[in-house]
Amino acid sequence: MIPLAVPNISGNEAAYLMECVASTYVSSVGSFVSRLEETTARATNSSACAATSSGTAGLHVALTAVGVGPGDLVILPSFTFIASANAVSHCHATPWFVDIAEDSWCLDPVRLSELLRRQTFRAGDHWVHKDSGLRVAAVMPIYTLGTPADMEPIGVIADEFCLPVVADAAAAIGATYRGRGLGGLARLSVISFNGNKTVTAGGGGAVAGNDVDLVGLVRHLTTTARVGVDYDHDRVGYNYRMTNLQAAVGCAQLERLNEFVAAKRRIRSRYDRAFAGIPGVTAFPQPAWAESACWFSGIVVGSDNADTVRTDLRAKGVDARPFWKPAHMQPPYARAPRDHMPVTETLWSRIVTLPCSTGLTKADQDYVVSAVLDVMAR
Ligand SMILES: *Cc1c(COP(=O)(O)O)cnc(C)c1O
Repeated sequence: MIPLAVPNISGNEAAYLMECVASTYVSSVGSFVSRLEETTARATNSSACAATSSGTAGLHVALTAVGVGPGDLVILPSFTFIASANAVSHCHATPWFVDIAEDSWCLDPVRLSELLRRQTFRAGDHWVHKDSGLRVAAVMPIYTLGTPADMEPIGVIADEFCLPVVADAAAAIGATYRGRGLGGLARLSVISFNGNKTVTAGGGGAVAGNDVDLVGLVRHLTTTARVGVDYDHDRVGYNYRMTNLQAAVGCAQLERLNEFVAAKRRIRSRYDRAFAGIPGVTAFPQPAWAESACWFSGIVVGSDNADTVRTDLRAKGVDARPFWKPAHMQPPYARAPRDHMPVTETLWSRIVTLPCSTGLTKADQDYVVSAVLDVMAR
């Protein structure tokens, strides 16, 4: 079976791990953690970065740092990996789910604006959701498949409603928005280094941004909110810091960021060209404002044949899989407030992801292409 996506760990990973072990700095203090933070800051064009134990942990502390707390609402698309919604729940806040735009699969600024205008009222310096009476505390665009959302209009709306923007940029390292890096697009941007992401640290995450004090607060929250070198802690913190072992792998991976993202983009455009014009097949979106990191590639087929297409491809040795089931359809979020979701609800089950490892050979990609053409011609 040609796998969907496997990590590419053929660089300096083993050497850096040996170096890390030999140094005895295997825990959350060490030169690889600092190096990973500096490299991630540069790669995202951010002034500062704090490394975390996972992307989910990064989202949790980023939301906490911008002031999300118990009883708040956070607006985010339902079309995301469940971790985005879970991070809101970890703050004892509630997700308020909205739809995505068809041309990007990201938060739709038009829907966001309508939602806030129609369903909130102003109470002093914040806005309150009419139905639930809860304060709206933040907005969290998801950079779906590594494609930044349309952040200029989203930023204008967020400013109008005094909402900090935390971007779930989990799979978007290497992407740009209108030629700009991720750092300036949101108050905080959260990257994941999980094993299925383009750049992995085995597991881990990072929170990047241009407000050095705010990123400092994030780092403080990840390290038990400890003040000084003794056992003084000024608030409830977390044990969310990345370890030097994870960072050793992450640093080796980041050395190849450009190569990996270029490979992901090549795979995407190869599939898009090969499948253009095939009846019943639509490509993943490529909005003009973004240069996507193209985390995953695949096709969109009909709602009646998606399961068959996946099964037939797997029978041919091509690991084709479904993509995220929307968060509002999952039991933990069955009762969370949500807007109408026409795009999300008609899209998600029709997605077929295709093999897109950065190390995918030309021959394997040729095989995937011929298998898809074959299955779709039935
Ligand atoms: C991977 C991912 C996460 C979670 O990151 P972890 O490092 O696995 O905790 C969150 N949101 C999105 C959109 C992701 O793709």
